[in-house]
Amino acid sequence: MIRIKYASIRSMDISNGEGVGIALFVQGCDFHCKGCFNSETWDFDGGKDWDIAKGRVFFDLANRTYVTRISILGGEPLHDKNILAVGDLCVKLKENFPEKKIWLYTGYTLEDIKNDDKVTLDELNIFKVSRFNLLRYIDVLVDGQYVESLKDITYPWAGSTNQRVINVQETLKQQKTVLYNG
Ligand code: SF4
Repeated sequence: MIRIKYASIRSMDISNGEGVGIALFVQGCDFHCKGCFNSETWDFDGGKDWDIAKGRVFFDLANRTYVTRISILGGEPLHDKNILAVGDLCVKLKENFPEKKIWLYTGYTLEDIKNDDKVTLDELNIFKVSRFNLLRYIDVLVDGQYVESLKDITYPWAGSTNQRVINVQETLKQQKTVLYNG
């Protein structure tokens, strides 16, 4: 089990993605966007331990038939301190629930991620992940930091209009940014 901290689990989530989902808020973010709605998730030493028992609880929640989406947000899921555990989780979720959509919210832009092939290895040198190769397991990416001056409460699935809601698999296939339209 790769250790991280998490802030909370939402067992029924209708705001961070399409349809009925569940959400995991990981702990730790050093973007510190002005006006962040979740500043209690910034501290990497805060939150609770993500352990095997919590992982099981999360998988049981995801397994319910009416849950069609699994959202991972934060905090910053793709921070160096979180990416191994988040990568491991995404791989296992896709293996177990290929029909459920994984939504990932990050302060990095798609361009940041595409240009980042730095590989992080777990301590046993068994599991490795980079931000870019993690995209293979993501259906929808909401990218970019929150910009308070661009806040729009009517903008679907994101907080500020600079953030894009991206159809990741079409983007990879077509090699150009394809937005998600539901
Ligand atoms: S990236 Fe997200 S969690 Fe981090 S400071 Fe910005 S809005 Fe808050």
